[in-house]
Amino acid sequence: MQILISGAGVAGPTLAYWLDRAGHTPIIVERAPAFRTGGYVIDFWGLGYSIAERMGVIDAVRARGYQVQEVRFVRDGGSRASGFPVSVFDRLTKGRFTSLPRGDLARCLYDTIEGRVETRFGDHVTALDDHGDGVTVTLASGATREVDLVIGADGLHSGIRELVFGPEARFERDLGYYVAAFTVPGYAPRDPDVYVTRSWPGRSVSRFALRDGSTLFLFVFTSDHLPDGPPTDDDARRAALSRIFAGSGWECAAILDAMERADDLYLDPVSQIELPRWSQGRVALIGDAAACVSLMAGEGTGLGMTEAYVLAAELVKANGDHTRAFAAYERQLRDFLLAKQKSARNFASSFAPRTRTGLIVRDVVARLMAIPFVADWAMGSSVRDDFVLPDFPETK
Ligand SMILES: Cc1cc2nc3c(=O)[nH]c(=O)nc-3n(C[C@H](O)[C@H](O)[C@H](O)COP(=O)(O)OP(=O)(O)OC[C@H]3O[C@@H](n4cnc5c(N)ncnc54)[C@H](O)[C@@H]3O)c2cc1C
Repeated sequence: MQILISGAGVAGPTLAYWLDRAGHTPIIVERAPAFRTGGYVIDFWGLGYSIAERMGVIDAVRARGYQVQEVRFVRDGGSRASGFPVSVFDRLTKGRFTSLPRGDLARCLYDTIEGRVETRFGDHVTALDDHGDGVTVTLASGATREVDLVIGADGLHSGIRELVFGPEARFERDLGYYVAAFTVPGYAPRDPDVYVTRSWPGRSVSRFALRDGSTLFLFVFTSDHLPDGPPTDDDARRAALSRIFAGSGWECAAILDAMERADDLYLDPVSQIELPRWSQGRVALIGDAAACVSLMAGEGTGLGMTEAYVLAAELVKANGDHTRAFAAYERQLRDFLLAKQKSARNFASSFAPRTRTGLIVRDVVARLMAIPFVADWAMGSSVRDDFVLPDFPETK
């Protein structure tokens, strides 16, 4: 089958790899003008880690990855208030854990299909006509394509979801926070392999030194800081972050100065996507487009890869009967994803406490994380994946 995939992020290239392996012809349409590496740093483990192994890219992923040593919460002067060694995650995942820029993970996945799978950068789907026997797809470039299936792997703000299911606001669950991130070269201090965070009630700033000499900064803050909604251009984003964090102490003044040099500023609400179903006719969704868990789950990439893998496997098992395959794909994963979303919502208040008491509790728990049973209690249920990855079916 000819299967058009919208989005060359994490889920899209994973799906293209498994479809190509099963003998289908995937075509990727990616809105960005070129493949973008870098970006914010993600933790990577679990099901995604296993799929990366099955795709033969885990060594490349680990080579681009960081073995973070410590998560450190600091005071204004920079001294350590609390924190925990990341060996906790290593133990919980049996060493199958790394952290790397999201775009670098996407690049490793895309490397498996580059040159094999047609990819149209700088284009996107503007209209879909599912006429029963296939789908006529119109692209922004003016081109049209006749395909058998369309898969939306185009992230939290999915264009395919909007075209088929309706406006995002209907399916978005706002978790009450914003997240912002950017990278800048030449920032000091660096503290290699330590994730350094300064928090105040309802706000936090973190930094992490990258190998190329740049530093990643991550801001999380409660939505009441932006009562008029998300700013829509970079100048307004910079102004908002300056207003929210100016005069906060720690390194905020230097970090806000550094922000002026950033050309990759990201700022978005922290939200999840809840759809009544993940497919309609010949169109299905995977990854954040279908069931975004948000950064609070720390596992969105792996879950998006799992959805891609299971969907491709079900298409093989159903011998191309997309109705059967889409239903089986959703049946296997919906409850699992709902549970992941719930656990991410519960974790949000510990990730970015809103009150002084919340911060004190977080610091106490962080100190106690060195004790294995406390770490298991605090992190075990979010790190565990209650889903067994099936073998990929052999194609005839
Ligand atoms: C700050 C932050 C921290 C996070 N931390 C973690 C973490 O620690 N661990 C983890 O596993 N996950 C983490 N996540 C979540 C993770 O990044 C996502 O769950 C994951 O990237 C989803 O993959 P995806 O392929 O569905 O979407 P994406 O990776 O977002 O890719 C979507 C692709 O579609 C393209 N696109 C968008 N619109 C269109 C369109 N209309 N047409 C064509 N193409 C389009 C985009 O350019 C992009 O290439 C974090 C997220 C954030 C924001």
